[in-house]
Amino acid sequence: MALLITDACINCDMCLPECPNTAITEGKKVYEIEPLRCTECVGFYDNPTCIAVCPINCIIPNPQYIESKEELLVKFKALNIV
Ligand code: SF4
Ligand code: SF4
Repeated sequence: MALLITDACINCDMCLPECPNTAITEGKKVYEIEPLRCTECVGFYDNPTCIAVCPINCIIPNPQYIESKEELLVKFKALNIV
């Protein structure tokens, strides 16, 4: 599934440069994840890199974008045309 940044985000900018799918943007109030671009890092890493670098653990699963690992792999391939 795609991930979601909660309102607890402190806009520290740690996650944005780490996203291999350029799914993270600054957003209007707090940083945001574009769900159509987030593969939960499937295709690149074993675990979501944004979660690994976030100092306050404010990145959670997006309940509106439930996807299996297989679906995330298809998404990865579509985004990266491999
Ligand atoms: S899980 Fe990976 S692809 Fe999704 S927003 Fe975080 S860094 Fe980007
Ligand atoms: S790393 Fe966490 S606190 Fe920092 S901008 Fe990203 S989501 Fe917000």
